[in-house]
This record gives sequence, C-alpha cells and structure tokens, in this order.
Amino acid sequence: MRKPKALGLVSGGLDSTLALLIVRDLLGCEVRAIHFYTGFCITESQRRRGIAGKDGKVKPNEALAAGARLGIEVEMIDISDQGYLDVIANPKYGYGANANPCIDCRIDMFVRARQILEEWGGDFVFTGEVLGQRPKSQRRSTLWVIERDSGLQGRLLRPLSAKLLPPTQAEIEGLIDREKLFAISGRSRKEQMALAEKFGLTEYPQPAGGCCYLTDEAFARKFFDILDHRPERRIERDEIPLLATGRHFRISPAVKLIVSRTEGENFQLRRYTDGRYLVQARDVPGPLALVEGEPTWEEMVLISRIVGRYGKGRDRAKLVVVWEKEGGKDELVIDPRIEDSAIDEYRI
Ligand code: SF4
Repeated sequence: MRKPKALGLVSGGLDSTLALLIVRDLLGCEVRAIHFYTGFCITESQRRRGIAGKDGKVKPNEALAAGARLGIEVEMIDISDQGYLDVIANPKYGYGANANPCIDCRIDMFVRARQILEEWGGDFVFTGEVLGQRPKSQRRSTLWVIERDSGLQGRLLRPLSAKLLPPTQAEIEGLIDREKLFAISGRSRKEQMALAEKFGLTEYPQPAGGCCYLTDEAFARKFFDILDHRPERRIERDEIPLLATGRHFRISPAVKLIVSRTEGENFQLRRYTDGRYLVQARDVPGPLALVEGEPTWEEMVLISRIVGRYGKGRDRAKLVVVWEKEGGKDELVIDPRIEDSAIDEYRI
C-alpha cells in the first residue's frame, strides 16, 4: 500500500507535537508540517522585534523548535494579510472571552491548509486539537463546523481524539489504522503527558495558553477601540504591532495617542510615523508618542501634557513639546504636571 501523505498544522505545543509523532511514527505517513503566523502570535512577534522574556532571552519560535527536536522541517507561512484581518474583524461565529474569534480563525487557517494539501496532493490534514479542551472552539459541534466550513470534510484528522470522532476518509479506506489513534478528551493534560513519556518526548513548552494577543484582555480593549471608532469594521496590518506597543489613550472619537514605555518601544514607534504625528518633549529624556487623527488645539495641549508627564521633565513648570509630521514641525510650551486621575479617563 502507498504511504499516505499528511499535512500537519503545528503550534509547537505538546498536543500538536504528539499529533506529529502519532501520524509519522505510529501511522507511518509522509508528513509535511506547517505553522501559520497570524501576526498575533506573542512569542513570534516578540522574537521578530528582538524582545527578551523575563529571563533576558529572546524565545525561539516554538513550532520551529518542536520540528527541530523531531527532525521535521516546519514551514512557517505568514497569513497576516488583509484577508485574515477582515475575518477577525468580522467573525461569523463571534468572539471568545476577548478579541479571539477562534472558530473563524481556525476556519481561515484550514481553508489555507486545504489549498496547500490539494496543491501538494496530500490525503488529509491533521492537528493536535483535543475534543473538549477549549470551551468554544473544541466542542464536538464546533469541530464539525470548522471541518465543514473549511471544505475539509472527511479529510481532517485529530489523532488525539480521533476515536471519539467520526472516521475520516483515510481511516475508512484503510489508508491509516484507526486502532492506532487515541480517544483523549477534556482539559486535563495527563494522558498527553503519559503519551509524551512513551514517545520519549521530554522537552516541550508547558501548556500555559495565552500565546495569542487576541486572547489578552488589555490587547482586546485596544483592538475593539479601533473597530469602534471607524465607519467600517476594518483593521490595517500596520496597526497590529502598534496594538502591542505602548500606553494607548483615546483622546476623542477621531484622535488616539500611543506613548512608548521603553527605549525599545521608542524605536518601534519611529517605524510607524507615516500619516501620524510624532510627539516628544524637547531637552529632556522621555517617551516618544504617536498621534492618529487631527487633534484640536486643546487636544494638542492635553496630549503634550500626557507625553510630558511620562518623561524626566514631569516636575518642571514648563516643558517644550515638539510635534512633527511629514516634514512639518510645531512646538508647544506646556505645564506637564498633570494628575494621573486626569489621564486615566482617556486610557484605553
Ligand atoms: S487563540 Fe484563537 S484567534 Fe488566536 S490564533 Fe488561536 S485560534 Fe486563532
């Protein structure tokens, strides 16, 4: 019998690593592994920006690291295009606890995976999904919806839970042995850990969750603030890195302020000055800020005071704040001594 060709979606977590091992080593398939970069992956975004973790080290991409441990090349595919952004701004199946439209996000990924599978001439797609592990996106009915809407009916194998789900085409045709698949469900990871031990898998990231900015409450507030202040539900690609950078303030429906928190963020913000004001205090060290929209004079004073408040000149009676945009320059003299309570009402 020919060797089945299986396309795996890999996150680098324990479940998708186990799925890879099951499909390659127990089912004997030819495996092609891919990892989708959405633009909202925390570790990968930080890695690309050179941001170190608490231990002072920049974390590797977990999917690539998992592939390297298993001797499997993992292809990184960037899906952070406008099509994906439109899906997450207008999800058919709604959001999870924060700004995470997991069902629509998975469908979009699986549609792309299906296209890759078909171009490659593969038999099925597989993932590390576990029935009932996540409250919304891994319910039985949801797994079925994702399979149907992505056009992968009968061609989507979840090896960890397969025995609890209807057989896939590859199982029905005897291309792979259903008996070698598993019946794991629920939130406990005990069975996966036991399985990892059987495979001799000792190194894998702890199941901490929170690998996606969209699941983060503070990020979600900023994300929805953008959507709530535009006529059409649309988010632009260059807004995503900014959502994870700095302190955000909604000054008015048409004006937003982003103030950096670190030297690194100063550097980040400088890359996004197109169409935005760059604001900073003159003569004293302090943050850089970006302003979106066209503020009124009063708003310019307020913004300058907020920017001044976060710099070394915060106790001075007078501070010069410089506004720059597209070659033009303005200077405002303000009193930066502003109470936090006066700022808090603008904080997003
Ligand atoms: S957490 Fe949800 S929204 Fe984020 S990448 Fe995963 S499926 Fe997509």
